[in-house]
Amino acid sequence: MKKLSIQTAIIGAGISGIAAANNLLDHDYEDFLIFEAGHRIGGRCHTFTHGEGILELGAQFIHGQVGNPIYQLAAENNLIDECYSQILHDSDQDLDKHNGLKINFEDKEVVQLFLTEQGFDVNQNLIETAYSCLNKSVRRAERHSLGTELEQDEQMGFFFYESYLNFCRNYFNLEDAKIKKSLDALFLWRCKWENVENSCHSVFDLSLRNFSKFVELRGSQIMEPKRGYQSIIDKLIEKNGPKFTSRVNLGQELDKILTCQQNADCEHCLYCEDSAKLVLLFADCVVMCNQVVLTMSLGFLKENIKKLFEPCDVVPREKMEAIGRLGFGTVNKIILEYEKRFWPENLEGINLVWSNMDEENLFDRINHVKFNQAERWSEDICSFEPALGFDNILIGWICGSYHERLGDQEVIDECTELLRKFLNRHDIPRARKVFMSKWKSNRLFKGSYSYYAFGSKPGDIDALAKPIRLETGPMVYFAGEATHAEFYSTVHGAYLSGIRESNKILETL
Ligand SMILES: Cc1cc2nc3c(=O)[nH]c(=O)nc-3n(C[C@H](O)[C@H](O)[C@H](O)COP(=O)(O)OP(=O)(O)OC[C@H]3O[C@@H](n4cnc5c(N)ncnc54)[C@H](O)[C@@H]3O)c2cc1C
Repeated sequence: MKKLSIQTAIIGAGISGIAAANNLLDHDYEDFLIFEAGHRIGGRCHTFTHGEGILELGAQFIHGQVGNPIYQLAAENNLIDECYSQILHDSDQDLDKHNGLKINFEDKEVVQLFLTEQGFDVNQNLIETAYSCLNKSVRRAERHSLGTELEQDEQMGFFFYESYLNFCRNYFNLEDAKIKKSLDALFLWRCKWENVENSCHSVFDLSLRNFSKFVELRGSQIMEPKRGYQSIIDKLIEKNGPKFTSRVNLGQELDKILTCQQNADCEHCLYCEDSAKLVLLFADCVVMCNQVVLTMSLGFLKENIKKLFEPCDVVPREKMEAIGRLGFGTVNKIILEYEKRFWPENLEGINLVWSNMDEENLFDRINHVKFNQAERWSEDICSFEPALGFDNILIGWICGSYHERLGDQEVIDECTELLRKFLNRHDIPRARKVFMSKWKSNRLFKGSYSYYAFGSKPGDIDALAKPIRLETGPMVYFAGEATHAEFYSTVHGAYLSGIRESNKILETL
């Protein structure tokens, strides 16, 4: 078995690992290696080329411009449409217009379809008003949690629904059963959208007291790099060229971190006599180092933290509890390619509004109570949107993972039936190809991104991010999107977490 001795190891070559490595190299620190379990660099940024264009299985948008290092990198290197730089020159008020949620009903040049499973359009006035009530309710939830230290956490779902109905009361007669049913259906649709935004399984999983913790950077929230996130990754790799690439070891999955117990049973001592070193075990190599930066996803940590450290009690209880409490759900994409487009050229989205809930309580439906995934998994698809740069591809957004176990043809069949039903068109063709992300079943990720789950504590992200200083000297640092207290769940959050932890290493020199 190969034995290596280095000062620093970085585990994971996602955005946070890349950022940490570049920062070290930028400061002429070279005594480190990166170990990546997968066979590519990028982690949850996963662009693939298809024909002339690109598609994303993971991160797709750059969220926000002011103070966003990823936007800055993209803009400086012409990786993003120039129209976005104009937004930055807008007045403060205009700049704020670009913040927030995606649907802009004022833009009459694009088509947003809101359809029910009976194939009907939802009444346009109803959608616009209800949609504005939904937005106001989300903002109200943010304000409610802002600055207040709520003693007890609450489930975001209850507050969201109550606020929504209160706002709706100003415009609708809620005693009218038909109207109330339509409003509930739109609420259910929006809950699925919130699931996708937050990567949770239900809005009842979201923590109300932490709902304002995520900070939205000003500027556009939905910028797509022209050649996808891969172009950003490529730029970052290019920055230090061979100094970076020669340090990346692909296909190296960290199995265990051994720390010295200074006793007769110490496994660490079988490999290394120096108690000030950590021993990292990989399948075919052993690495001795003074410090390690872990960047694996929260999903990976949830599943593996107990067996990752030997002995496991070196991980403080607060960190273990934070890992347990914080949320990590699954957002997936089902990308359907057709022979030719069957939707309007200026389509922005086909929003699926399930309206027939007579048999089912709304909250039970939102929480998937008595919900047979095998029969109903596709009900969790929130919308289909055309893929940028293609005129024959739709991207279905789903918060869930049941489809990950199905074959391509089964998924195509289900999506065809769904689209035929909602569009009320039996001539909708079958897709000729499907590409599906499978983030939940990938053991290196175990899901998509993190959120403050109901019951999590305001300090949980800090507890997760806090380095472990071992008695004998070595340090374990934690980076990755889930460790950023304000920008968790994003690429820029991951990037900044890598810079933060590598700065801690540089400070010790
Ligand atoms: C479907 C989806 C859509 C998204 N959309 C957006 C978006 O539009 N905008 C946005 O800003 N963000 C988005 N995100 C989130 C964004 O992709 C992540 O926040 C970010 O890429 C995480 O980077 P990271 O470095 O923290 O982690 P990762 O990218 O997960 O990197 C960690 C690396 O560690 C490796 N690893 C794991 N275990 C081991 C081990 N034992 N040994 C060695 N290596 C290991 C993994 O293979 C991985 O490469 C999306 C994510 C998903 C899944």
